[in-house]
Amino acid sequence: MDVEEHVCQSCGVPMNPEDYAEGSEKGDFCSFCMVHSEFVADRDAVKARIAERIQEMTGKSRDEAEAEAEDTMNGLNRWAVG
Ligand SMILES: [Zn+2]
Repeated sequence: MDVEEHVCQSCGVPMNPEDYAEGSEKGDFCSFCMVHSEFVADRDAVKARIAERIQEMTGKSRDEAEAEAEDTMNGLNRWAVG
């Protein structure tokens, strides 16, 4: 596979190199979630961001979008358990 979509490992948003946070050299995190190598968006903020994107894209209810946001977060490095 040559093409791997780069998504933020905190909020799951697809990123271009200019979206990478400062201090996130491999581009693991976006500038919404991380500033100067420190996380600035907590779990609630990230979940709200993902849910809003889902609502914009799909028109789902907030509850459905938040449940889907939880699923998304479970697949991202920042929130992975263990
Ligand atoms: Zn992010």
